[in-house]
Amino acid sequence: MATHAEIIAIGDEITSGQMLDTNSQWLAQRLEALGVRTLYHTTVGDELQPCVNVFRHAMARANLVVVTGGLGPTADDLTRQSLGEATGRPLQLDAAALRHVRDIFTRLHRQMPPQNEIQAMFPAGSRVIPNPHGTAPGIDLEVPCSHGPAEGGCRFFCLPGVPAEMMEMWRESVAPVIAAMVGPDRRVVLRRTIHCFGAGESQIESMLPDMIRRGRQPTVGITASKATVTLRIAAEGASEAECVAAIEPTAAAIYDCLGSLVHSEGDDQLQDALVRLLRGVGRTLATADGATGGLLAEWLAGVNGSSDVYRGGLVLSRPDSPAEALAAECRTRFGTDFGLAVAPSPSIASDSTHTAVPGPSVTIALASDEAVAVKHVAFALHPELRHIYLAKQSLDFVRQTLLLARQS
Ligand code: ATP
Ligand code: MG
Repeated sequence: MATHAEIIAIGDEITSGQMLDTNSQWLAQRLEALGVRTLYHTTVGDELQPCVNVFRHAMARANLVVVTGGLGPTADDLTRQSLGEATGRPLQLDAAALRHVRDIFTRLHRQMPPQNEIQAMFPAGSRVIPNPHGTAPGIDLEVPCSHGPAEGGCRFFCLPGVPAEMMEMWRESVAPVIAAMVGPDRRVVLRRTIHCFGAGESQIESMLPDMIRRGRQPTVGITASKATVTLRIAAEGASEAECVAAIEPTAAAIYDCLGSLVHSEGDDQLQDALVRLLRGVGRTLATADGATGGLLAEWLAGVNGSSDVYRGGLVLSRPDSPAEALAAECRTRFGTDFGLAVAPSPSIASDSTHTAVPGPSVTIALASDEAVAVKHVAFALHPELRHIYLAKQSLDFVRQTLLLARQS
């Protein structure tokens, strides 16, 4: 039977929004790598009855449940009690676990507070998951289930909330057990992400006929973040090679349809693509950030080993010359093939009463030994995204110019 997982995060600090639930994100990725599909993520506060309810729901709809948090000794740590109640298994003292908790305190030269004894209590029938570097051992409990998707049984793995302890226990004591549960004929999921710039999400979707549709194999999803549109291809198969083979034609079709809108894949970004391109044509670049808060310099200098093609940049909070002059100036100053500058368009810089009319408001200029090419860009996005958007527009202007030159 296929293994379907639910991940449960427990804690008021998460339900109240004070802390981000990174444990569930990490666990979902690990489960996928083991060939397990996660169907539900649930988050619940530190209260007994809600936790009992959440565990009961999980038992009815998943056959593997991974829980983090609430294993501590304090009154708000209720995972063991609620699991015991949800499964009808009374808590019992585990002598070895009690010795472990005592030992930890002895090593710290501290007296064990009486309330820590609860950390050695486990629902009847549990296996103790050792926690080498913390006091809270984890719980591994399998319960029978006579109906629903978890028919045949549901297995709980409860781990502490502290990420370092949770991860260590996962690696040492949980992942191997799950791998054995799933067996050798596990499904493999492979993902490939392709990043584009220069067109909106819906425009890109319309350029990819019938690709972003439910039920297609491999699946293609589309997301937009900070003016970068990303296509996410996912294939499921019996082996990695099968997934690679399934993804390849879809990726090729995306490249075909989108042409130079595609700039990179995976962890790479626009600046990585541009540095690679500059290196390929043997050209150097310098920049002047006059309307981008230093992002051009930060991004380009931040690309590993970029100094052979990116020679440096000026960051100007109030540029006193237009972009065309700045582009020429930084090109001369750094002795590069290209100078790229972004600055407010003169009409706007000089007119402080300017109201928000649509139209160009920033100038991007690219100076070479032949000429200064210019592009005008309007502020269209949320103010918080303005610098990012303009910096990406600028990098892409250089990229498109180089691609055109390479073609001719
Ligand atoms: P302990 O024995 O350390 O008390 P515990 O199981 O009781 O373990 P919690 O008290 O629930 O763990 O959480 C301890 C800390 O772990 C939290 O303060 C928080 O910093 C971190 N933590 C808990 N849950 C998560 C989560 N889902 N994602 C990221 N961090 C978390
Ligand atoms: Mg706690």
